[in-house]
Amino acid sequence: MTKWVYTFGDGKAEGNQGLKNLLGGKGANLAEMSNLGLPVPPGFTISTEVCTYYYAHERRYPAELAIGVDAALKHVGALTGRAFGDPENPLLVSVRSGARASMPGMMDTVLNLGLNDVTVEAMARLANDARFAWDSYRRFITMYSNVVLDIEHHNFEDILEEYKDSKGFTLDTELGADDWRHLVQAYKACVQHHLGRPFPQDPHEQLWGAISAVFGSWMNARAIKYRELHAIPESWGTAVNVQAMVFGNMGETSATGVAFTRNPSTGARELYGEFLINAQGEDVVAGIRTPQDITEAARLAAGSTKPSLEAAMPDAYRELVRIYGLLETHYRDMQDMEFTIERGKLWMLQTRNGKRTAKAALKIAVDLANEGLISREEAVLRVDPAALDQLLHPTIDPKAERIVVATGLPASPGAATGAIVFTSEEAEAAAREKRKVILVRVETSPEDIHGMHAAEGILTTRGGMTSHAAVVARGMGKPCVSGAGAIRIDMVNGTVSAGGKVLKRGDSITIDGSTGQVLQGEIAMLQPELSGEFATLMGWADQSRRLKVRTNAETPLDARMAVKFGAEGIGLCRTEHMFFDGERIIAMREMILADDEKGRRAALAKLLPMQRSDFIELFEIMKGLPVTIRLLDPPLHEFLPHEPREIQEIAEAMGASPEKLRVRALELRESNPMLGFRGCRLAVAYPEIAEMQARAIFEAAIEAGSRTGAAVSPEIMVPLVMTRAELDLVKARIDAMAAAVAKERGVTVDYSVGTMIELPRAALRAADIAGSAAFFSFGTNDLTQTTLGISRDDAGSFLGSYKARGILAEDPFVTLDREGVGELVKLAAERGRAARAGLKLGLCGEHGGDPASIAFCEEVGLDYVSCSPFRVPIARLAAAQAALGRVTKTEG
Ligand code: ADP
Ligand code: MG
Ligand code: MG
Repeated sequence: MTKWVYTFGDGKAEGNQGLKNLLGGKGANLAEMSNLGLPVPPGFTISTEVCTYYYAHERRYPAELAIGVDAALKHVGALTGRAFGDPENPLLVSVRSGARASMPGMMDTVLNLGLNDVTVEAMARLANDARFAWDSYRRFITMYSNVVLDIEHHNFEDILEEYKDSKGFTLDTELGADDWRHLVQAYKACVQHHLGRPFPQDPHEQLWGAISAVFGSWMNARAIKYRELHAIPESWGTAVNVQAMVFGNMGETSATGVAFTRNPSTGARELYGEFLINAQGEDVVAGIRTPQDITEAARLAAGSTKPSLEAAMPDAYRELVRIYGLLETHYRDMQDMEFTIERGKLWMLQTRNGKRTAKAALKIAVDLANEGLISREEAVLRVDPAALDQLLHPTIDPKAERIVVATGLPASPGAATGAIVFTSEEAEAAAREKRKVILVRVETSPEDIHGMHAAEGILTTRGGMTSHAAVVARGMGKPCVSGAGAIRIDMVNGTVSAGGKVLKRGDSITIDGSTGQVLQGEIAMLQPELSGEFATLMGWADQSRRLKVRTNAETPLDARMAVKFGAEGIGLCRTEHMFFDGERIIAMREMILADDEKGRRAALAKLLPMQRSDFIELFEIMKGLPVTIRLLDPPLHEFLPHEPREIQEIAEAMGASPEKLRVRALELRESNPMLGFRGCRLAVAYPEIAEMQARAIFEAAIEAGSRTGAAVSPEIMVPLVMTRAELDLVKARIDAMAAAVAKERGVTVDYSVGTMIELPRAALRAADIAGSAAFFSFGTNDLTQTTLGISRDDAGSFLGSYKARGILAEDPFVTLDREGVGELVKLAAERGRAARAGLKLGLCGEHGGDPASIAFCEEVGLDYVSCSPFRVPIARLAAAQAALGRVTKTEG
């Protein structure tokens, strides 16, 4: 026979912490606390299997359930010396829902169940306190009517308010027994009026009503939505806890409260919480009265005049301190506890691992390890890598006042303040004068890269989480709010307006890329703290890690940032980014417009010194760490203007004919540039471009090597290869250039040539390609596009429906598609390594900073991942966790 009901209380329990799946979180921990001998009011848990049964059988219960519940009620009655429904000595219970994962949306707790017109009198006699009994009864009617009978709370609130007004009362505490008695009659009349039948008087009917309401709430709209958002399977079901009541509303020596064993926002080791005297359950959070502090220290810090628990009820406080120590040691984590004090005696009603900010999570993990409660490896496993994002960027001071203008998508974390500008040119001009600006645009395009670099943050009114602005901003580590659709940009008048507020060009604005908020004015910020616990935990992570972590960087700023964050090299330097600004784009355009090779070489000669000096700087910053430089990759049209006005201006500035510029732009226009004239195809058609870049790399390596004394061994990466022949052709030019520079300078550079694997054909032909490549770097952004046949820029319009229908579990551009793209990576890694021992394998692209994708890289044994600078610490931690065997589940 299946066991459906599990009792707990009096120092033992039929369940324990390990039975969370069956008992739900609350039930399992109530059982565990009982087993620990802690003062827990006795009760029982109806298992989640009953919930599953209930929905599999048209909302009917297993036949033996009623027998199990009756037996458990008798057991609880025996432990408390009372009996459920007894007119003289009634047992009152609470009915509490409890799923495996705590789930808002489930039924609220019903307290004081078992009260009726008869048992209320018995309670008054037993407690020798009529006010307490009638106060409990009115609370019960309100809660039960609200959560079980579906009569809205405000009906009862209105009756209470009217009554208080008529009597001249302001506080609930001023009401006496007769007042509550009177209100109970009014409440019952209200129920009769709404339901057409009286409030249920039979305690068993009340109990089954509440149990069914808990199971019913598993399928209410709020719960379904929450499960959907947090990927909680419907099959888990919820448990129901029925527990003997203890009363925090039995006068001045009774109280109820909540406490954390450590401060959940800072992580500081201090008992932190609030309580209320003469109150029940929800009062503390309901905000009817201002709660009091638990410790004297907290009371003094808050400047409160109301006594702390420590001062008001010293015995109960000492007991709480004893229990909190015990619970932390037992659970080996910070606990969030709920308790009630009945006439001086402390009762524990709940404990669970407490929610905490990223900052607190870090401090608590490090402190627990230092206190010897957990190992360093466990500490490393305790911190969610994604949460580090919050710590690496400036954040808005939680104490600062926020005037919200609009809310968009939290596209790239961190907060930034600056003056409003509308174009990349304005942003650059401001940056030159060291003015801080926020670039506000409808959307951004590749031409805005330099403006985005110059700005403190980016705000767009259109586009989603994978829009150009969002992806580029995340790559740069710049705060970005995208798709703030409520905002209207008026370029002509230079204004930004939303919700009746109008801001002008130059006005201060703040964006919070972690929440999506757009705020008026300049707001106080907190700067990231990279020393202390952060440094300690990262150090421990590095000891557990096998995968190396490199960065994607091309600017000195990014490279320096990445080194500060612990990058062990550059895995992807996208040289085209170096061609976008200032004079470079002019020379670049000259090259593109040139009629023949001679013209192209002349333009490239202008680019050479600029490119060389960029590389020297990068090599110097990286001090001998590996640097992978990718040859020019994007289609050339990205460097040309398309608007007639722009074409005119640029042609004039270049001294070129606008007509020629227009024609060339038209010629280069492709219907599918992602699959067009780009990658190594450029180097095949115009080898002189690759030659210039190779020369710049070699000359820079020699120069930087001699300046720093650390030999530079550049890794030159050929993009978008599909055949070995392409690679061989480009490699021959690079090798020839290496020989030429060596001859000119009398110094040989130790370099290697490898390729990006970003086409399925390249992955399949890995054995062949490895014959010529010293390394592979999986360019999983493009490999995802080319494997799935989905363009990242256009995926927004349908990816949502794919996720909603469960066709794709994750956005494949955020988390690597293991089954498809992953299979290709695995296969290419195996084939490549079989063909060339010691073939170096890395992964670059957005996935390099995604914990779930990093776990995959660990599994297939890649050598390194490369990600944007701000994600380097995240990748370090995720790589350590992957090595420690953490099963990475992506959480919502
Ligand atoms: P939630 O999941 O919303 O926290 P709980 O089931 O924990 O709901 O109940 C909320 C509060 O109700 C508890 O913190 C406690 O104060 C009170 N409560 C629940 N059960 C009892 C009980 N048996 N005796 C006294 N108070 C109770
Ligand atoms: Mg609770
Ligand atoms: Mg690519």
